[in-house]
Amino acid sequence: MEISQDTVVTMHYVLKNDNGDIIDQSTEERGPLSILQGHGNIIPGLEEELLGKSKGDTFATVISPEHGYGEYQDTMVQIVPLSGFRSEDENEQVQEGMQVQVETNQGPAVAIVTKIEEEDVTLDLNHPLAGETLHFEIEVVEVRSAEENEIEHGHAHGPHGHSH
Ligand code: ZN
Repeated sequence: MEISQDTVVTMHYVLKNDNGDIIDQSTEERGPLSILQGHGNIIPGLEEELLGKSKGDTFATVISPEHGYGEYQDTMVQIVPLSGFRSEDENEQVQEGMQVQVETNQGPAVAIVTKIEEEDVTLDLNHPLAGETLHFEIEVVEVRSAEENEIEHGHAHGPHGHSH
């Protein structure tokens, strides 16, 4: 069976950056990754590369930021007042490098605290891989037709399904 819209693809993957550093990979422990093809579960560039591939296929592909996590945008770096982060609990004080949930015009988003200076907090709302050229090595482990409820939910279910 070939990978097409609404198939569930199970794959092993290794993701490296331009320097050859491994950024992410499937492991024996976590098992291969299962995705529902054509529903934006993964970046558009990789969905495109998967089309037409079959079980057992292995390939390497290089994906530009445009087809990956987007270009790095300076406008997505914002400075907000520290007073918005005050917490009663001393152990929950905001720190550099922390991920925080913020409200944006497009709804909730995750930002990384890149700097804290006096009363200002700098938040970076870019995806951590924005601007990166992505080097994937893929092994297609399995391809099957999606169940109806997987298509409804927009994601793949594991071997035992799930309840949401
Ligand atoms: Zn579901």
